[in-house]
Amino acid sequence: MSTKYGAKISNTSLLVSLIILVVLLAGCSKQYPETCPSSTPIGLIDADEIANDDSLPFRFPLDASTIDGTLFFGWFGVSNECSPNITDCYEYPVRQYHAAEDYQRPAGTAVYAIADGRISFSGRAGGYGWLIIIDHPQANLYSLYGHLSPSRWKLGSGKEVKRGDLIAYLGDSDENGGSADEPLEPHLHFGIRAGQTADYPTRGEWRFMAGWMRLCPQDLAWKQPSAIITSQEIPAGGYPQPEVGFLTRWGFELLITSIYTIGGVGMIVLGVRRKLHSLILFPGILVIAAGIVFHSNRMASTYTLLVIGLIMTASGIVLYRQSGRHHLSSPERLK
Ligand SMILES: [Zn+2]
Repeated sequence: MSTKYGAKISNTSLLVSLIILVVLLAGCSKQYPETCPSSTPIGLIDADEIANDDSLPFRFPLDASTIDGTLFFGWFGVSNECSPNITDCYEYPVRQYHAAEDYQRPAGTAVYAIADGRISFSGRAGGYGWLIIIDHPQANLYSLYGHLSPSRWKLGSGKEVKRGDLIAYLGDSDENGGSADEPLEPHLHFGIRAGQTADYPTRGEWRFMAGWMRLCPQDLAWKQPSAIITSQEIPAGGYPQPEVGFLTRWGFELLITSIYTIGGVGMIVLGVRRKLHSLILFPGILVIAAGIVFHSNRMASTYTLLVIGLIMTASGIVLYRQSGRHHLSSPERLK
């Protein structure tokens, strides 16, 4: 009976492993575009007027006088591959496209909210140094401001802002995502996307804080920032939500959740059957640790991991205590 049950489990886990492998391979075999439409920022001649007219929905994130002709390496949609146009380029191992516009200004330059909204993220974020993201529900857009200064004053998450409110300052080249060894020229990485940050996951091509991506940013709902601001248009009901399947957007998080859930349950079944608490207890602690790391990356699957990890750890402790009692009550079995 138990042999039959055991065989059933291994067949199931084999099948599940195969499915996961196929999904992973399908993900890896994805075709990425050779080029994407890229565009220079739209003329900012009227930036002063735009910045000073409070009746308009948008303004530029920098003082108008500071934006003119000061583009750094990144146009919207441009690839990271070095070219005659772009000599100050990153040497990424794979081709990626820029989802924003970069405005090169000195460290300490003031950065302003482009429209009324709510700060959905304000914190350190890898290559961004300090990153601020503002949701603008009235336009169904969010705006992203990267390479801000961690050491200077800045607004925190959850704050309501009005168009033109000061939110932070540009960072120095050793704190804006760069370091003393690899300094990064002070500049604002400025992106605008359809939807709100909560619509997007933290990992994969659809991640909410993405600055560079392998797919064309236009196909992932990123907009050309200067085009949005110079148009000053908000369609009725806001910018349309991109039409994209649930799995495309959340597939990676679901994959992580599935792997850990199936793996965790499998370990518990195996540990209980073999009466080996070490099979559950220590992996359980590792899963909790993974959950904590994922949490700091704002992954939605973090909660699943914490629950699975806690169940594994608790099961391991119960098993450990049971085996301890068992050994005490029947020492002859240890021989
Ligand atoms: Zn950039």
